[in-house]
Amino acid sequence: MKTVGILGGGQLGCMLASALQKLGAKVQFYDPDPFSPAIERTNHCVQGDWEDKKKLEEFFASSDIVTYEFENVSVNLLEEICNSTGTKIFPSAQVLKTTQNRYFEKAFLKNNHFPVCQFAYAINREEAECIAQTFSYPFIIKTVTGGYDGKGQWMIQSKNDFNLFLQEISANFIPIIFEEKIAIEMEASCIVARAADHSSFCFPIFENVHRNHILYTTQLPVNLPFAVQEKIKEIATRAAEKLDVTGLLTTEFFLSRKMNPYYNFEKVDDYYIYINEFAPRPHNSGHITLNACNFSQFDALARILLNIPLQTPILNEGFYCMGNLLGDIWLEQNNKYALNLNAWKENPAVIDVVLYGKKEAKKNRKMGHFVTHSTSKNSSSMLAEKFWRDLNENI
Ligand code: ADP
Ligand code: MG
Repeated sequence: MKTVGILGGGQLGCMLASALQKLGAKVQFYDPDPFSPAIERTNHCVQGDWEDKKKLEEFFASSDIVTYEFENVSVNLLEEICNSTGTKIFPSAQVLKTTQNRYFEKAFLKNNHFPVCQFAYAINREEAECIAQTFSYPFIIKTVTGGYDGKGQWMIQSKNDFNLFLQEISANFIPIIFEEKIAIEMEASCIVARAADHSSFCFPIFENVHRNHILYTTQLPVNLPFAVQEKIKEIATRAAEKLDVTGLLTTEFFLSRKMNPYYNFEKVDDYYIYINEFAPRPHNSGHITLNACNFSQFDALARILLNIPLQTPILNEGFYCMGNLLGDIWLEQNNKYALNLNAWKENPAVIDVVLYGKKEAKKNRKMGHFVTHSTSKNSSSMLAEKFWRDLNENI
C-alpha cells in the first residue's frame, strides 16, 4: 500500500484524500494550522511550519510520493528535501517555481508564445511610477506572490487610485505586476491531467463567473463554439507539456471579443483568448467534475500519483452549476460554526452539498460548495441562485 503525502490540509487535500483512499492508498497531511479540515478528519496529520526543514524531511521520508494543494512553499527547500530523501513531488518543484510567482508565470507565457495580456513588473516605487505612465486606465496591480481569491489585487481606475495604492504600499513595498484590464466576455478554465508516461487528457471546459474576484459559479457544459473549445484544450495541453507537469494543471482563461493593440495571437471564431494564470493542482472550478463527469479531478490526480493508467472522462447528461458557499451565508444565518441546510428540502435540483469542515465562518471564506442539475444552462444557474437565496433566508 502506497503512502501519499499531501502538503496542505484544506478542502482540496481532503477531497484528494478520499479519491486516494478509494484506490487503497494511505494518506498523510502536512499543515501548520492546528484547525485545518484535515486535522479534524484524520489522525495522519503532521502539524509543522513551511520552513521546518527537519519536520518536512521526516514527512517526505515517510511518504512514497508527495503532492500539494497549496502553492506558497519554498521551492528551494522542496528541491533540497526531494534530493535528500529521494521522494518525488508531483507536479515538480520546478513547475511550482513558475506558477507560484505571477511574474515568472507571465514571463513563461510570453517567452513561449502563449496568449497573455500586457503586463509589467516592478520591485520598487520608482519602477511602479514609471510603468504607470505606460499603462492606460483602468489597469490591475497584483502582488507577485501570496495572493488568492482576489487578495493582493488592486483595480486602478484613475491616477488618484494609483496614488492611493502607492500610499498604501510604500512603507513596505513588495514586488508587483501591472496587468491591462481585459474586457472579459467569459472566463473559462481547463484542467489537464498528465501522467508520468506523458499521456494526458483534458476535462471538459468549465465556464466560470467571478464576483469580487472570487469564483461564484462554474457551469458545464460551456457555451462556446467547438473551435474555441478545441483551441483552449490545445493551449492548455501545450502548457502542461511545456511545463512538464506530472499531475494536474488548471489553466484559467479570459475570453474577450474586443480587439486590443497588445494581442498578437490568432483569434478564433471572434474570440480573443488569453491565459490568466495556472494552478498546478485540483481547482475550485473542478469541483463540478465530482458530479458532472464519470470521474473527478481528484480521481484523475489519484490515478496519476498511484501510477494507474488514465482514460478520458465522460461528461454526464444535462446541465450542471456549481456554486460556492462563502462564510457570508453562515454570518447571515447568525451562526459562524454551523450551516442550517433546511432550505435543501425545497431545492431538489441541488444534487450535492459539500461542506469543508472549517471551524469558523468568515466573510469571503470558502466553506463549501453545492451543485445543481437541470435541463438547461439557464435553469441550472437560476436554481443555484434560488438555493443561495433560500439559505440566506434560512427557510
Ligand atoms: P486569484 O489568484 O485571486 O484567482 P486572478 O488573477 O485569477 O487571481 O484574479 C481573480 C479574478 O479577477 C479573475 O478571475 C478575473 O475575474 C479578475 N481579473 C484578474 N486579472 C484581470 C485582468 N487582467 N483583467 C480583467 N479581470 C481580471
Ligand atoms: Mg484565479
